[in-house]
Amino acid sequence: MPDAPPDGYVPARMLNEFAYCPRLAYLEWVQGEWADNPDTLDGKFVHRNVDREDRRPVPVPGESADSPTLHARSVRLENEALGLVAVVDLLEVDGTTVTPIDYKKGEAPDLPEGAWEPERVQLCAQGLLLRAAGYTCDAGVIYFSASKRRVTIPFDDTLVARTLALLADFRRVAAAGTIPPPLVDSPKCPRCSLVTLCLPDETNLLRLGLPAAPVDDSATRPPGAGKVRALLAPNDDARPLSVSEPGARVGKSGERVVVELKGEKLAEVRLADVSHLCLFGPVQISAQALAELADRDIPVCHFSSGGWFRSMTTGLAHKNVELRIRQFAVAADPPAATKLAAAFVAGKIRNCRTLLRRNASDDVTMTLNALADAATAAERAESVPTLMGIEGMAAKRYFAAFGGLFKEATGFIFDGRNRRPPTDPVNAILSFLYAMLAKELTVAAQASGLDPMRGFLHVPRYGRPSLALDLAEEFRPLLADSVALSLVNTGEIKPEHFVRRSVGVNMTPAGRRAVLSAWERRLESEVTHPLFGYTLTYRRVLLVQARLLARLLLGEIPDYPAFRTR
Ligand code: SF4
Repeated sequence: MPDAPPDGYVPARMLNEFAYCPRLAYLEWVQGEWADNPDTLDGKFVHRNVDREDRRPVPVPGESADSPTLHARSVRLENEALGLVAVVDLLEVDGTTVTPIDYKKGEAPDLPEGAWEPERVQLCAQGLLLRAAGYTCDAGVIYFSASKRRVTIPFDDTLVARTLALLADFRRVAAAGTIPPPLVDSPKCPRCSLVTLCLPDETNLLRLGLPAAPVDDSATRPPGAGKVRALLAPNDDARPLSVSEPGARVGKSGERVVVELKGEKLAEVRLADVSHLCLFGPVQISAQALAELADRDIPVCHFSSGGWFRSMTTGLAHKNVELRIRQFAVAADPPAATKLAAAFVAGKIRNCRTLLRRNASDDVTMTLNALADAATAAERAESVPTLMGIEGMAAKRYFAAFGGLFKEATGFIFDGRNRRPPTDPVNAILSFLYAMLAKELTVAAQASGLDPMRGFLHVPRYGRPSLALDLAEEFRPLLADSVALSLVNTGEIKPEHFVRRSVGVNMTPAGRRAVLSAWERRLESEVTHPLFGYTLTYRRVLLVQARLLARLLLGEIPDYPAFRTR
């Protein structure tokens, strides 16, 4: 993330972003969002030499430099009257004339103006700052590193007027406090570093009015209408790293996380490949590893030996204060909070119904009908307590039928849900998987700028990630319950993977490894998104849902679209 400029000053690079896409500038400037993609990383690489600050003095305006042409690198400029700040990559001083030089990756475009507008505007802003400092500055240069070409950009009246107009526009948009809508079907989006967060096509589809229940309208939809491009990578390259060996120690060695037990190396993973770290029970972590993970925004999730999700260590809070203010405002508004909570509960009940419909060999028609009625009642509920009642009754019906999905030959019997502690193996698996799900959604909510602790359905309770539990509702049957079913029915987990304690039942380390492995496989499995039509992993789906919730809280989409399978 770039350094923050002084209050009220607009960085010249932000004018570049604003000219490219007003929404991108708003996300970065007002909401403090930032993400690297291959383009931004290439840009940083190109700047690695010019960003070294040059201590040689630049002559004062009006005085000639000693040598015919003097260069100064990484020159910082700011001007109160313009309200602008910039860092000039390279400043060329020739007599009384100064020329800012901006380094760009890529090839020089074949355009009559020599460069795209965002780049010209950014350079012109630097020229205006130099002029305001008293220098003569009639043109700037963009150096395109891939084609090794210098392109001169004259600061003519048209470009100056456009730059000043964009600056005024940017200030107006930022002050209004309303995020500009996403670009429609724009070729700019696939290259945008914030596309995963912005969700341009998804937001446009939902804000332009999608029916609450997904319908197949492909026969009547005009070609191209409502089309959502697959702009998100279907999966994240980084994966969670779990450490559950009692006495293990997590440290850092260079760019790697190293896990050791009694001096023996158990695992070594590149930091860049770790999305978050999960520590179960008595596992130690070094201060150096903790600091490095926090600096890189890689959360560390702490679990009890039994799998209870106890806490999370992260870096400083996400910068999107505006989103958290909206989250708390909606949570404090009963009708708005109930509407959201209803979407979570109805989504969960409908997904429970789908799981039963797909897996039951007995006749469960009455249960399916009852669940359909409960989902409809949830959608119409007028208060959160009413919703909780509906959810409780639906869960009772669902779990009564859920037990019938386990094959008799496995020896596992499920006679209803119990917890804290679970008193039978199936409930031990379910409790563990629900904790894993809550952890995944805590990480997803945090990464999306939401406060994982403030929910809409689950009331705040000390130490409880209420929002993560809200978001988890629709995924309990889809992810946790289905993994439990498959583990038992395929024989991947067996009765010997459990030990009975004085109170409750625990998994053995081998049992927990089997459950974790099945859980990771499920999260990595791909699914076609029912609304957007593209394929992505379930882990990615969790992040998309958290980001859609953020878009709803910011008033961009009218309803929260619970993820539902058919
Ligand atoms: S993804 Fe598209 S609409 Fe969204 S910020 Fe980027 S360029 Fe703008």
